[in-house]
Amino acid sequence: MAKGKIGVTTENIFPVIKKFLYSDHEIFLRELVSNAIDATQKLKTLASFGEFKGELGVMDVRVSVDKEAGTLTVSDHGIGMDADDIEKYINQIAFSGAEEFLEKYKDTANSIIGHFGLGFYSAFMVSKKVVIRSLSYKEGAEAVEWTCDGSPEFEMHATEKESRGTDIILYIDDDNKEFLEQARIDALLKKYCRFLPVPVISGKVQEWKDGKYVDSDKDNVVNSTEPLWTKKPSELSDKDYLEFYHELRPGEEDPMFWIHLNVDYPFNLTGILYFPKIRNNIDIRQNRIQLYCNQVYVTDQVEGVVPEFMMLMQGVIDSPDIPLNVSRSYLQADQQVKKISSYISKKVAEKLDRMFKDDRKAFEQKWNDIEVFIKYGMLTDEKFYESSKKFFLLRDVNDNYYTLDEYRTLVESTQTDREGNVIYLYATDKTEQYSYVTSAEEKGYNVLLLDGQLDQHLIHMLESKLEKTRFVRVDSDTPERLIVKDDTANSNLSPLEADILTGMFRSQLPELKDINFIVEYSALSKNDAPATVTQNEMMRRMKEMAALQPGMNFYGSMPAMYALVVNTEQPSVRKLVEEGKNALESDLVPVRGEIETLNGEIETLRKEMNDKKEDSEKETLKTQISDKEKTVEEKRTQEEKLVKDYASTQPVLKQIIDLALLQSGLLKGENLTAFIRRSISLL
Ligand code: ADP
Repeated sequence: MAKGKIGVTTENIFPVIKKFLYSDHEIFLRELVSNAIDATQKLKTLASFGEFKGELGVMDVRVSVDKEAGTLTVSDHGIGMDADDIEKYINQIAFSGAEEFLEKYKDTANSIIGHFGLGFYSAFMVSKKVVIRSLSYKEGAEAVEWTCDGSPEFEMHATEKESRGTDIILYIDDDNKEFLEQARIDALLKKYCRFLPVPVISGKVQEWKDGKYVDSDKDNVVNSTEPLWTKKPSELSDKDYLEFYHELRPGEEDPMFWIHLNVDYPFNLTGILYFPKIRNNIDIRQNRIQLYCNQVYVTDQVEGVVPEFMMLMQGVIDSPDIPLNVSRSYLQADQQVKKISSYISKKVAEKLDRMFKDDRKAFEQKWNDIEVFIKYGMLTDEKFYESSKKFFLLRDVNDNYYTLDEYRTLVESTQTDREGNVIYLYATDKTEQYSYVTSAEEKGYNVLLLDGQLDQHLIHMLESKLEKTRFVRVDSDTPERLIVKDDTANSNLSPLEADILTGMFRSQLPELKDINFIVEYSALSKNDAPATVTQNEMMRRMKEMAALQPGMNFYGSMPAMYALVVNTEQPSVRKLVEEGKNALESDLVPVRGEIETLNGEIETLRKEMNDKKEDSEKETLKTQISDKEKTVEEKRTQEEKLVKDYASTQPVLKQIIDLALLQSGLLKGENLTAFIRRSISLL
């Protein structure tokens, strides 16, 4: 019998294990089962090299609960350990400076486990006593029993053990009785051991007998030892992939397609990633991709390991190069992990590129389901943007698809403005913007459909990436002015005519909630609409951005600005101007004259005031100015009233406004009813 102290610096380890790892204490089972699997695999390897010549026999790993004895036992038939091995691997916890290390990492104590050979000791998180009974594979080895009650003291002596391998017996402590429940153990094994390479047995298969479930005599194997990702892609059919998918994610719709990852240089990585259908609903969930290390489940928190946009995918990644049991921040900083992340991103781009090249039609048909994924990738991953340029598609309102290059070629000759910018016209709603789309198409323009959740961001990005390219929504101006190619005639109104027209339209525009209008003119063609409502591209984007970003309330709470663009060439507008001028000129001209005179006087007084030194003199002039300003104000009101009173007697004017509002979907409720009544009476 031997007694001793474990290592030199372990006094501090047990409290750390118990305390800091408390939240994650269930992982002890993964640690012990992994050790058992390792021991089994090692023996198989030795046998394959001829270094072990005996019978391998049954090589499974067994987890058994004995509620009465209060024990949980993990048994294997692997290489086992003799007294020297235990001394070396268990007693000497093989790292120096443990105290210093623990001090530094006590908050992330999780990262000590496994990474530094503390896996076995995690058993003490849930046990008051741990016993190892082991018989080494070595010829003539003597079985050995090691006992430790959680203090740094242990006890070791020779024992009787028939079968080769190791039993780890945990005497579960009072706080952790849950680990004596078969159901709890089964659930844990399902989580951590589902795809381990050696059969893991836990309890018996249940069978229905005499009205209840009872143990049958068949062992319950909890894992599938050859999960799909470990097999060669060439040996697998679509059916295999789909079956595996449904095993991973029961109850979900079939995925769109998948990628089987398989690398051994410069790191080891296998896995299968599935693309679920994503329809405009970005939902990054942490638990879609499971990370394995040699078939041992590590985590489903893969942030940092896979590129952010890949988290929309589902599946498994297995890499022995991803350190087991490490904290998230550690993972993110790890160079190896970074390489893995960019490798996956590259593989996904390659796959998409191949799909695009192999069968473009099929790719286009899938586009609606994968575009969110691709756009998200382009927006968040510079490298992915570069590689996606080959297969990224723009869709127009007629469901034609173009690559970026193709689209450029298509519109370059017709949609370049006078500054040399190529204007990409787009609609966000085919039905609502129907008339604008039609007008644009009648001018020979192509209109894209950008109605997705990410499209506003995409537009910003493409404008910054593509040379001399601007995106303009079809309803942001009249068709004539969407793409300004030369100095098209503005209006040809005299100042008086312009004022009358503005006044008339402004006075008759309905008051709409959260919407402000400005009145503009444009000399469009005779056949164009008399007036059109447009929304300035920049203003609209500002508001849209504000809606997405909490900090930009200022823009968000501003009323929307629309322009009512009046076509001064349209006959009924011309008529309105003519008649308005005839009716109002004699009244307006004197008022306008007075305003002009007053403004001239104000100007002179201002100059005079600036030259004065005395404060009292300044004050007197200031009062005079403000009196005159008031008079100007009154005259203006008078002017406005004249125009307004006249305008209110012009049903055609109202009709023109309402038609423009109707076209842009702004004519509703009471105003719509008034419009219909008026239309009828005009008939
Ligand atoms: P790690 O597994 O990270 O090396 P552990 O503390 O879990 O750290 O185990 C330390 C060592 O003890 C292992 O490397 C192995 O040599 C030995 N060991 C643990 N469990 C077993 C087992 N069931 N059979 C044989 N050897 C084992």
